[in-house]
Amino acid sequence: MLIDQIDDILPQTQCRQCGCNGCRAYAEQIAAGAPINRCAPGGAAGIARLAALMGRPAVALDPEYGHESAFAVAVIDADRCIGCRLCSAACPVGAITGAPKHLFAVIEAQCTGCALCIAPCPMDCIQMQEDGTVWNEERARKARTAYRERLERQKQTRERIAAERTHSAQTKKAVMADVMAKVRALSSSRNP
Ligand code: SF4
Ligand code: SF4
Ligand code: SF4
Repeated sequence: MLIDQIDDILPQTQCRQCGCNGCRAYAEQIAAGAPINRCAPGGAAGIARLAALMGRPAVALDPEYGHESAFAVAVIDADRCIGCRLCSAACPVGAITGAPKHLFAVIEAQCTGCALCIAPCPMDCIQMQEDGTVWNEERARKARTAYRERLERQKQTRERIAAERTHSAQTKKAVMADVMAKVRALSSSRNP
């Protein structure tokens, strides 16, 4: 499938710099005719591969969607972190770990460098730091798996909460019906 082939070329950082909600969404847009030069993490090399696949010219990266830069990972300043968990909630691949109200930390090997954790941090204590490594296809594949697993966990959590709410509403309804039945029975025993 064309969308899968495009998605395989995209770097899977899930950074949204292309304006889409993740790499898969951009792959779908490219397949539908969107420009191929909006993925800054993929850079010129990625555009060249997309161009070959799509039979289109290998144009330059659109600067409105970012610039190519060295790979960097997020690093949390332990002295300022208040453990609010907002960064962890924003991380698309579950690369930030910690316990509420305690220090949070980035698992470097899982960080895609997307920088999505920086804006939500109320303490401004996350920075991107180049680590001298290069993003490659193997890391992209792992990041895509982590991203999909996270989406699946979120879906299961939503479904569980919805089921609990339904169960709670049904329980309340049954309790009310029971109470009303008892009231009616009491009322008819007093007024035979
Ligand atoms: S790596 Fe970022 S910019 Fe590139 S396709 Fe994925 S989400 Fe879009
Ligand atoms: S830790 Fe931050 S930069 Fe790294 S993947 Fe998560 S959100 Fe992106
Ligand atoms: S958002 Fe900032 S303060 Fe909150 S847990 Fe993450 S690093 Fe710590």
